[in-house]
Amino acid sequence: MSSHERAGTDGAAVVAARCADYDIENVRAALRELLAPLGGMGAFVRPGERIGLKPNILMGTPPEMAIATHPVVVGAVALAVKEAGGSPVVVESPGTGVAHARLPIERAFRKAGYVEAAERYGFELSVETDWEMVSNPDAVLAKRIELISSVRQVDGVINLPKFKTHMFMTFTGATKNLFGVIPGLNKAAYHARLDDPRRFADMLLDVAYFVRPRLNILDGILALEGDGPGTGGKPRHLGLMLAGVDPVAVDVACCRIVGIGTGAVPVLVAARERGLWSGRESDIDTLGVPVEALRVVDYVLPGSYEGIGIGRGGRLDLVLRPVLRRFSRMPRPKVGRCTLCGVCEGSCPVKAITMDKEARVARVNDRLCIRCYCCHEVCPSAAIDLEFTGAGRLFHRLNLV
Ligand code: SF4
Ligand code: SF4
Repeated sequence: MSSHERAGTDGAAVVAARCADYDIENVRAALRELLAPLGGMGAFVRPGERIGLKPNILMGTPPEMAIATHPVVVGAVALAVKEAGGSPVVVESPGTGVAHARLPIERAFRKAGYVEAAERYGFELSVETDWEMVSNPDAVLAKRIELISSVRQVDGVINLPKFKTHMFMTFTGATKNLFGVIPGLNKAAYHARLDDPRRFADMLLDVAYFVRPRLNILDGILALEGDGPGTGGKPRHLGLMLAGVDPVAVDVACCRIVGIGTGAVPVLVAARERGLWSGRESDIDTLGVPVEALRVVDYVLPGSYEGIGIGRGGRLDLVLRPVLRRFSRMPRPKVGRCTLCGVCEGSCPVKAITMDKEARVARVNDRLCIRCYCCHEVCPSAAIDLEFTGAGRLFHRLNLV
């Protein structure tokens, strides 16, 4: 990876454009609108460079489920990279429950519609399975990170996140998407070590600013709302795309548009404390179409948004958070929906899940569970509900969790 001079815009500039659907010409037109104030794709890609496109594929789901970055968005960006003289290659290690091995990666690409898009728009899909340990001296927490080799082998990265809610981190956009450069199942170890959302957020920032994408282009045409970022969420048409150099600024703009308080997004709380943005949401507006014109008042927030126990900053939160987290929702796989596929078992960082073949349902050991919700995120059958149990129900009624 190497850095590259930017266009003469403020580094925190975020641009928004409307885009009604995934017609390739509409997406390309929106992309031109996004890139014009930033100096065009030529400001980010030099002729002859190999450019890694980092989408959000999670475990590989059809585009209409709005869980993965739409393949047409990847195609439109790939065409723009080629026009600027670069060679686009998709670099990704799908979600927590998927091994970083050739077959699962190929399967995820196929399910998400990327194989067809790669042929149609002419981009490469990396199935490189090597990874390496790299040192990250500027990090607050993650001083050494495992990184998929495909990211090391490109000249620069363009981040292509999806606009989604997230039960553990409230919102996932540009910053969180870069966690996907950690190889497959290795992600679970980060969850096990950093079970507090605020510490997890610090690690996410360490990874994001190590990768330091040249550009972030976010797919918010069909977003995900409710209990995302996986099958627990619901597709929601927002009809917009955003772009910016700084992932945190892009995420703040997204939260402003749909009314997520940035104090409820651990990544943005941590970023504010690091001085990566001012903490004043109004400081970040969008060029192109302004935030005010894009506001969505009925976007459904994740169930975990309620309460004060999820890392919103402030002294009260600091004291109560570790205690209250013990009473937050528990994963409850449901008989009838659970197919015993075992994906959740593979994703659980603390091995709290077993398959109960007799009862035909996955079982969660509550004493081991750290409430990271990886299982909920990766379950392909939307078979896991997140429910309050015991005292958690009471605390929830009091709006504490
Ligand atoms: S809960 Fe979901 S991921 Fe786990 S075994 Fe059942 S269907 Fe598979
Ligand atoms: S069972 Fe608990 S610890 Fe395991 S993946 Fe699910 S939420 Fe995380």
